[in-house]
Amino acid sequence: MNDHDAIAIVILGAGSLATARRVQQRLPQARIHGLSGRVEGVDHLYENFGDTLRGLYREGVPIVALCAAGIVIRSLASVLDEKGTEPPVLAVAEDGSAVVPLLGGLSGVNRLAREIGEALGVAAAITTSGELRFGTCLLNPPAGYALADLEQGKRFVSDLLAGEALRIEGAAPWLAQAALTQADDARLSLHVSCTARAPSRDELLIHPRSVLVAIEAASAQSVHAGDLAARVRAALAAEHLAEASLVCLLADERAMAEPALHEAARALDVPLRFTTADGLASTVQRTVSAAQLIARDGLLIGVANAPLEPRKVGRGRGRLAVIGLGPGAAELMVPAVKAELARAEDVLGYETYVRMAGPFRADQVLHCTDNREEMQRARHAFELAAQGRSVVVVSSGDPGVFAMAAAVLEALHESTDPAWHRVDLQILPGVSASLATAAQAGAPLGHDFCVMSLSDNLKPWSIIEKRLDLAAQADLVLAFYNPISRARPWQLGQALDIVRRHRDGQTPVVLGRDIGRPGQTLTVTTLAELTPERVDMRTMVLLGSSTTCVFQHPGGTPWVYTPRWYPPHR
Ligand code: SAH
Repeated sequence: MNDHDAIAIVILGAGSLATARRVQQRLPQARIHGLSGRVEGVDHLYENFGDTLRGLYREGVPIVALCAAGIVIRSLASVLDEKGTEPPVLAVAEDGSAVVPLLGGLSGVNRLAREIGEALGVAAAITTSGELRFGTCLLNPPAGYALADLEQGKRFVSDLLAGEALRIEGAAPWLAQAALTQADDARLSLHVSCTARAPSRDELLIHPRSVLVAIEAASAQSVHAGDLAARVRAALAAEHLAEASLVCLLADERAMAEPALHEAARALDVPLRFTTADGLASTVQRTVSAAQLIARDGLLIGVANAPLEPRKVGRGRGRLAVIGLGPGAAELMVPAVKAELARAEDVLGYETYVRMAGPFRADQVLHCTDNREEMQRARHAFELAAQGRSVVVVSSGDPGVFAMAAAVLEALHESTDPAWHRVDLQILPGVSASLATAAQAGAPLGHDFCVMSLSDNLKPWSIIEKRLDLAAQADLVLAFYNPISRARPWQLGQALDIVRRHRDGQTPVVLGRDIGRPGQTLTVTTLAELTPERVDMRTMVLLGSSTTCVFQHPGGTPWVYTPRWYPPHR
């Protein structure tokens, strides 16, 4: 578990909200998920308890469920066999009187249970024998340490549970509070060391993450990924250093975007950090202070006396993600966007959308700006990301549809700053308003369609008229974004006049207002009945083609669809 893993506190009703809040106070990174219709004012609403729990479990999100342990067990039963690392799962009594760790012994469930227990003033129901006896899970050392061999470790712990004493060699500060019987002449020993070797039957070998490897820029560019990872491994092996002790790779910042470096870091499962070409040796020296420095095969290896924190070594590659929130409802936001929001350090955007993207943690910096300052916002985003920060620019719907992605790319295209071009730029899609509206109406976009913004802020009205005329003539279904606003009152009326030249008054029209947001409305009407007064800037207008059909269904808005076939010679 790290700081970024947003723990999910899942509740079924308002009765457990008070307990949920007490847990959240202790774990500020946790988010409360409440059953839709039963609770209000929580961070996320969900529709189905079982699906939600299974989804979180599969994504590796730690789960604190405020309900009977049995409900949690039944809900997760079908996914327990799936491979992958298991997140901590706990059941907490609704009134906060019991904390029961259920799953995730090796990912810190008991530690989490103790923390929650402390917050609620109850003892956690710890059942893991090693944990009970020693007050810690020996097989799950804290961040900064890695167990050499889990299977061998399990055998070791059962020997220890049989009552034997233990010798600790090396520094294991986290065991200072543990209830271990120590003896200098004990047969069983716990070794903390970065030396590479197979643990003997009588020892628990733990590697501190204290080895830093710097790569010369020239070698990073000339070496293929597999080779670089292999070279790092070979250099570590030659120095008898455990790969598990490697804390990060350090490279010349000019090679920041070099794929070979990223692949090597992925293969070795460590973060990549950067500094200037001149600063490589001094950064290693400073980081591992007063300890060994080894030069080998274009690599510089530093071994520190204690675990290192990768985020304190040089700096990271900045990341800029332009994300689409979808129309509004949380269920319509793609998981990649949710994950990006969780890792963001800075969030930029039009205030309404930034608010829609929340809630945010106290450590996340929000930069809300006016809707019109798009290029300025894009440049600000690059400035932040070029400093190594994780930056998110929010758009509603899809970021590539009349939104921030194009502005961000334009800012980058114009820039000659190499630091901007090295940023890890990602565009993450969202459900655009036309698609969200179409889905609610049926399938009006089932055949060829044309998407247009009716705003003449950034393009001449004459172009809009020409395109409307041709698209209407081509019998394409039309989707209008930005159909009207206070500053653009007459344009929609003119647009409709153009369309009417080519289309029958009975042509179906769908108006979606605030789709996926509170108070959403969906209207099906006809081109003859459509007047600009029925449309505002929060409305999506879908105008049918000659083949678009409408039929009634009981108790709702009629279905609208455009068939996938097209009559010949039309
Ligand atoms: N990037 C956005 C579009 C931005 S343009 C997307 O992909 O959806 C803004 C226009 O989109 C609005 O004027 C309106 O026409 C439409 N729109 C955005 N969100 C909407 C929603 N929830 N319901 C209906 N229309 C919406």
